[in-house]
Amino acid sequence: MGFDLGEVLIRRKTIQERVRELAFDIGSAYGDMDLVLIGVLKGAVVFLSDLIRELPVSITTELDFLAVTSYGPSTESSGVVRIIKDLDININGRNVIIVEDIVDTGLTLSYLVSILREREPEMLEICSLLDKPSRRKTEIDIAFKGFEIPDEFVVGYGLDYSGRWRNLPEIHTLKKRD
Ligand code: 5GP
Repeated sequence: MGFDLGEVLIRRKTIQERVRELAFDIGSAYGDMDLVLIGVLKGAVVFLSDLIRELPVSITTELDFLAVTSYGPSTESSGVVRIIKDLDININGRNVIIVEDIVDTGLTLSYLVSILREREPEMLEICSLLDKPSRRKTEIDIAFKGFEIPDEFVVGYGLDYSGRWRNLPEIHTLKKRD
């Protein structure tokens, strides 16, 4: 079954304002600390690139990326998560924030958190633009959260459906093709 682009769920300006607030919150919490921001590829790239430009200059940030497989072409999570690109840097003793596009069942992040904790960072927190709490299968503490959204599959602002619609500046729902 195919999907078409549905209505706008979160407007560009609303996203921009919230990203600015999240960056302010991170700045307030970590002042002049040395942070490592880990973007989860590929969906978090747009969010991460906006977020870092709103962080205060006093924070030094190193960037790294992880890639995991969580979804095939369908919109349902398989629950199977596999790292397909690991970090380049050593996070031992570092202050780390994982930057994610969306927390749905929570399986991806709880797996990532457990792997990264074994590397003994000084601090490990999560920043996610979107959160679908109604779908959660495992408890996850999201220290910095953009928006809670209903149980709808969304695209845009870095999020895709089968490789499409990542480039849209707003967040949209999908609708089933007639
Ligand atoms: P979780 O493991 O929390 O169920 O899923 C997390 C990952 O599933 C996200 O990083 C994202 O790649 C994908 N995902 C979950 N919900 C959505 C959604 O509504 N839209 C898109 N495009 N991806 C989603």
